[in-house]
Amino acid sequence: MSLILSRRDMDFLLFEWLDVEGLLTRPRYAEHDRETLNAVLDLAQQLAEDLFAPHNKMADANEPRMLADGAVAMPAATKTALDALSASGLLAASQSTDVGGMQLPFVVDKAAFAWLQAASAGISGYALLTMAAANLLIEHGSAEQIERYAKPLLQGRFFGTMCLSEPQAGSSLGDIRTRAERDGQGAFRLFGSKMWISGGEHSLSESIVHLVLARIDGAPAGVKGLSLFIVPRDLPTAEGGSERNDVTLAGLNHKMGQRGTVNTLLNFGEGQSRPGGESGAVAYLVGREGAGLSAMFTMMNEARISVGASAAALGYTGYLHSLDYARQRPQGRPAGAKDATSPQVPIIRHADVKRMLLAQKAYAEGALALNFYCARLVDDLRTGPEAESAAVSGLLDLLTPIAKSWPSQFCLEANALAIQVLGGYGYTRDFNVEQFYRDNRLNPIHEGAHGIQAIDLLGRKVVIGQGAAFEEFQRRVARSCKQARALGGEESEHASAVETLLAAVVETTAVLHAADDPELTLANASQYLEAFGHLTIGWIWLEQLIAAHGKVGDFYDGKRAAARYFRLWELPRTGPMLALLSSLDRTTLDLEPAWL
Ligand SMILES: Cc1cc2nc3c(=O)[nH]c(=O)nc-3n(C[C@H](O)[C@H](O)[C@H](O)COP(=O)(O)OP(=O)(O)OC[C@H]3O[C@@H](n4cnc5c(N)ncnc54)[C@H](O)[C@@H]3O)c2cc1C
Repeated sequence: MSLILSRRDMDFLLFEWLDVEGLLTRPRYAEHDRETLNAVLDLAQQLAEDLFAPHNKMADANEPRMLADGAVAMPAATKTALDALSASGLLAASQSTDVGGMQLPFVVDKAAFAWLQAASAGISGYALLTMAAANLLIEHGSAEQIERYAKPLLQGRFFGTMCLSEPQAGSSLGDIRTRAERDGQGAFRLFGSKMWISGGEHSLSESIVHLVLARIDGAPAGVKGLSLFIVPRDLPTAEGGSERNDVTLAGLNHKMGQRGTVNTLLNFGEGQSRPGGESGAVAYLVGREGAGLSAMFTMMNEARISVGASAAALGYTGYLHSLDYARQRPQGRPAGAKDATSPQVPIIRHADVKRMLLAQKAYAEGALALNFYCARLVDDLRTGPEAESAAVSGLLDLLTPIAKSWPSQFCLEANALAIQVLGGYGYTRDFNVEQFYRDNRLNPIHEGAHGIQAIDLLGRKVVIGQGAAFEEFQRRVARSCKQARALGGEESEHASAVETLLAAVVETTAVLHAADDPELTLANASQYLEAFGHLTIGWIWLEQLIAAHGKVGDFYDGKRAAARYFRLWELPRTGPMLALLSSLDRTTLDLEPAWL
């Protein structure tokens, strides 16, 4: 049994629940059949087992180092794994054939990639950024930019970065200061510092393509003044070689987890790296001036869903590792056992350990399923009926902060439970689970911190377009509940719990927005995100229950047990949260900083 992910569960989610085979009737996917999809999933699993998982610990222990010449040293195994991934063609799996892709369904692409995310969050981080950078350029770049940058990214010859954050501008992107000057020949020169840039310098690929948000001189303050630029690390010379652009590695950040991915502070336009001292990093505008943030959102939204998938994958692998341990670790006897000389039982026999395993299963399988659901929406957006695309796109937008944040919170909790299952051993570096926790701890922070996602959900996503996306969500939940009711039994009970919670979330949303005071409405947004997330995962578990209906065997019984756990142990937690929200509690809002 693989301890990375469960292929059995993946097959259930993709083929028994999300009807991915049904997608293959659409012209874009006509070249594929179940066998080709299986082959891609097999390939990803193989790469994960052979080249990613075995080096995960080593890449963590040997974090990247900055050398005197500004280069970055890291273990050779990282390059070996990423070279193999590039050679496999998986970086372009869901892309069109005209850019070198395989036109696989997006959901299969994301399922394949989840193997690598679970096997090594640190090593797979470069690929995540590279795929997202290529997507952004394909959507917003010119034909020439696609040719020069997106295609090499998809081949893995170049790797990508996203350069938004600055020391003074993390959550608040409107405060970005990096400047762009026109160079008089249609391009720009950039000056400024970017903080926290993952994959900002390395020798894993031929070159690096930085996608940078900057403010063109004279542009308005705030996010409306931001434009998006390609800043290649290397520029071609007239002689056919290449020289360094004016991008300098100022230092590395030393992280708690995900140490396989180098994290950098980059300076643009210091004039140190270009021959002749000519300064300013050569940059090419992508899309329209002033439309940088909305273009960057293509990359950020993809990255947010990928971050959620990474959190789910880490939660999942932690669950499987602790499950494996619990089956083997003898300790203690059943509560009623009288004979002190009887053999110890494996800890999986103790109810409290089973609780910790079942909670992990409910969190991790629920989170991965939600991320696959979102990826399936991307397929519907690309290839589904035109008439439904506005509804699908709105729903995807609404679900994005949840798909990013709920796994980041609850699969981190799953990793904490995995450590607990291993007891003292879990707290040591001799086992893997402590690393999963550290790796996962990043996910509520980057790509929009947890609190920012909460404000996005409550402040924008549920009300945008007069609440159209929220209504689509309600329609879909109601449809699942109706289906479940027709099945009766546990499915019907689960539907009732989800319906009750949905009604409470709808009511709380109305109360919060009726306050007509943005500060008060958003004061407790994180609680709202958690409650909405639980509703969403409760619905996703209902969907899985329906897909498992009438099927027999341990696998399906396990699905039913996890759904039951979520209904009986998790959903009731949301009642007090929603009551607190509806009371428009001002405890945090009125708190004076001096009182802390
Ligand atoms: C390992 C790592 C990798 C990263 N990779 C990249 C990358 O590749 N590219 C990139 O551009 N960035 C990257 N980041 C940056 C990351 O996106 C930021 O750290 C994140 O956006 C938060 O910004 P900050 O660290 O400045 O924290 P702050 O913005 O200072 O936030 C600190 C706290 O205050 C809260 N807060 C801030 N503003 C508000 C508000 N208005 N309302 C309520 N709460 C608020 C936040 O939720 C958070 O809890 C990375 C970060 C890390 C740690």
